[in-house]
Amino acid sequence: MTATTAPAACIIGWPVDHSRSPLIHNYWLKAYGIAGEYRREAVAPGEFGAFIQSLASRGYAGANVTVPHKEAALALSQPDDRARAVGAANTLWFDNGLRSTNTDVEGFLSNLDVCAPGWNRSLNKAVVLGAGGAARAVIYGLLARGAQSIVVVNRTASRADALRQRFGDRLRVASWVELDSRLGDAALLVNTTTLGMHGQPPLTADLGRLPGHAIVADLVYVPLITPLIKAAKARGLRTADGLGMLLHQAVGGFALWFGKKPAVTPQLRALLEADLDPSAGKPAGIT
Ligand code: NAP
Repeated sequence: MTATTAPAACIIGWPVDHSRSPLIHNYWLKAYGIAGEYRREAVAPGEFGAFIQSLASRGYAGANVTVPHKEAALALSQPDDRARAVGAANTLWFDNGLRSTNTDVEGFLSNLDVCAPGWNRSLNKAVVLGAGGAARAVIYGLLARGAQSIVVVNRTASRADALRQRFGDRLRVASWVELDSRLGDAALLVNTTTLGMHGQPPLTADLGRLPGHAIVADLVYVPLITPLIKAAKARGLRTADGLGMLLHQAVGGFALWFGKKPAVTPQLRALLEADLDPSAGKPAGIT
């Protein structure tokens, strides 16, 4: 690859073909008239360290990092408090060395702020499904916004227990069998598992148990309208979907690499929706 003078960034993953990040960042570069570029970099696990070492010489101001490199990115950089607490980094940039953060946290929180303003005013109890990397980002964010109690429901109990040790006493652990009985006083239900994603088993939860003021968030965005989001809307509950989180998590990296805080606009969302569901057609005004 030839280094260019225009700032560049990339998404590093293995595989990385499925990533929508290039669509988002190149849209913003064009929208703001910035002469830069955002590329995909398929980097095998054994080559990640060497690739990171050569990031600057390849002309990159920084990078996003996705599966399976998020933990290695943390270990090979100077993480901020957020990335360290979550235990994974998804955004790298240079500032007196290679720094890292985790923008899934702000992606999740900003999306809720937009979709359900005031959502954390009385966040007595949240139920989080899953105990993987995404769950850690969600739980860190919920605790930072004042959640009094978080019930973590996960298939593998030991992973949920590990989160309780990591984040402390405001977390409780429950099994899937107990899920429905835990929904009655929950102000927020968040799915961070892969359940409900295309090709994965469905997510079953009795949303009828949730109080009428509850909010339902799903991190899955393929399909765009997951069965969980559909069921929540049918019940008249406020929802926050995975595509919204994906768009908001991209804001921080773009600002760090290209010096402009970008806006998540309806037009950008429409572009991603058309890409995720080509049958919906290309939205008007998108070139
Ligand atoms: P991960 O670390 O691999 O965790 C996957 C989670 O799903 C684990 O809790 C796992 O439970 C659970 N799970 C998987 N299959 C299951 C099944 N058949 N039954 C019950 N639980 C099951 O993955 P991750 O990085 O946290 O990502 C999780 C999801 O969040 C993915 O769908 C990802 O695309 C999405 N995500 C979205 C965004 C966004 O911006 N919208 C950002 C990050 C992640 P066990 O512990 O028992 O295996």
